[in-house]
Amino acid sequence: MRLSNLTLEQFNSQFATEEACVTFIYQSKWPHGFSCPRCQFRHAYVINSRRVPLYECSRCQHQTSLIAGTIMENSRTSLKKWLLAIYLTARSHIGTTAVELAKRIQVTYKTAWLMLHKIRTSIHLADQKEPLKGTVQINAGIYGKSPKSSSYKQPSEHLVLVGSTLNSNHEWEHVKIKHIAAPRSRYKEITRTDLLSFQESHLDASVTSCQAVTGFYTPRKQRPLLQFVTQASNWLKTTFHGIGPRHLQKYLDEFTYKLNLSLKNIAIFDHLLQICVSQHG
Ligand SMILES: [Zn+2]
Repeated sequence: MRLSNLTLEQFNSQFATEEACVTFIYQSKWPHGFSCPRCQFRHAYVINSRRVPLYECSRCQHQTSLIAGTIMENSRTSLKKWLLAIYLTARSHIGTTAVELAKRIQVTYKTAWLMLHKIRTSIHLADQKEPLKGTVQINAGIYGKSPKSSSYKQPSEHLVLVGSTLNSNHEWEHVKIKHIAAPRSRYKEITRTDLLSFQESHLDASVTSCQAVTGFYTPRKQRPLLQFVTQASNWLKTTFHGIGPRHLQKYLDEFTYKLNLSLKNIAIFDHLLQICVSQHG
């Protein structure tokens, strides 16, 4: 079932009860049936006396909760509200804001912000596990471009490197946009150290060729990946009215996460739920 295709009304009726959410999260967490996190035994007794079921391993008696190790652990917010937060985040090209989420699920702005922050942290961790492979291109771009033209970097401007794997048909397959959080120059320029740091952090050992065009005065047609920086900037502007440098990376990761799943034709909600319920750390 591709739940990403459900309308909001269909989603709400599908997950009308906590029981429906428990069943669904159980299937996402243990698609092949229960597995004890301590001894991997495949059978457990269910203890239903709590808000969220506990499972006691029939071999080693280890007790684990349905939400242990997930972003929902230690949260008093209902599973239904969490699933809706994940559903709203998964909407491609839209996503959701803490203001909208707070209103829809009737929680405080602070709670909604923290929920989205945890979802974005899961996305960020998933991104780190998927480096660019094979044939890679890298371009430099600017988020929050100032209308004032200057070779100095303006306070509103944040330098980014955008890289992508190219498939055998020369199509973009996996895109990353990374904020240069501590630029080594006050000019609009990507230093060799910035580029090397990007390559070390985000390229796999299997990379066979890496072409980097990072000059800001190089014609745009030689920097085709800039289209993704423009798309990300437009989304951040429209949905969030812009994002400051502190959390910018997590929002850029959310953008490329959804873009990459769309490029691969993978359902976003199903994938996002999967990474939100898998063990962290
Ligand atoms: Zn066990």
